[in-house]
Amino acid sequence: MDIFKGQDLLAFAERFKTDNDCKEYLSTIKWKEAYICVKCGHTASQIRKDHSRTCNKCSHTESSSANTLFHKVKFGLRKAFFICFEMATTTKSLSASYMAVRYTVTERTARLFMHKVREAMKSSSNNPMDGDVHVDEFVLGGREKGKVGRSYDSKKKKAITAIQLTDEGKVRRMYVMSINDFSANSLSPIFDKHIDKDAKVTSDLWKGYKPISQHYDIHQIPSNKGLNFKALHTMIHQIKSWIRTTYSWVSQANVNRYFDEFCFRLNRSQSKNTIFNNLIVKMVKADNIEHTKLICS
Ligand SMILES: [Zn+2]
Repeated sequence: MDIFKGQDLLAFAERFKTDNDCKEYLSTIKWKEAYICVKCGHTASQIRKDHSRTCNKCSHTESSSANTLFHKVKFGLRKAFFICFEMATTTKSLSASYMAVRYTVTERTARLFMHKVREAMKSSSNNPMDGDVHVDEFVLGGREKGKVGRSYDSKKKKAITAIQLTDEGKVRRMYVMSINDFSANSLSPIFDKHIDKDAKVTSDLWKGYKPISQHYDIHQIPSNKGLNFKALHTMIHQIKSWIRTTYSWVSQANVNRYFDEFCFRLNRSQSKNTIFNNLIVKMVKADNIEHTKLICS
């Protein structure tokens, strides 16, 4: 089976005409390496018409969506594939209420499924950024640079972001994480997860970066009202307005999911041709997460 490539909606609709077409696609990804029975570990099976597999030894049948983020999708796999396609290829912001209207599902159902998609969009952290990296913090719902004194008691949601720049000073990759405050302890995780020890990091003069510079090559320069971090501040502006225009309010529990969605698309803007397949592979490989973990909007 060929992977689906491109962003053509008509080609997509032609390729995935039925739920069964989607089941076939999932089964190819799921058992690409080999089939192993989840119950008894046997490796021989019968392939059924719906692309599920029945173990030759213990007769356990596993659907191609079982134990993936498509597990028990109530509204059918075809709709789920279309929602994934839209979320992977859009350049706009897509809200749950919009998806609910487009696919005749309830807003709650759309929201829960979209959170599963965002879960799959989370970075694996296997590929930390090297080269020229800029970091800065920001607040959601606050002024662009309104962190005078970086007050610790503000209730506003805070985040740290890091970008890797190309030789031309353009954004190659970006990661964003929610933080509780601007202390070195809170700023550290984005370094540990997404920044290579060999990277040349630039930050502003905030003292929170000092302790981290014992382990990373951090060059601290004045922000000069953001002028020294132009590409980074353009991205911060984009992610803030993206969240503000679509979601108006996001809960603390879910804010990282929105950051993950934004960065997933941005970091793959050079590989849009395979972005849908890439997302489906991540949906299949991720463990199914319980709805209870997704409840807050
Ligand atoms: Zn078995």
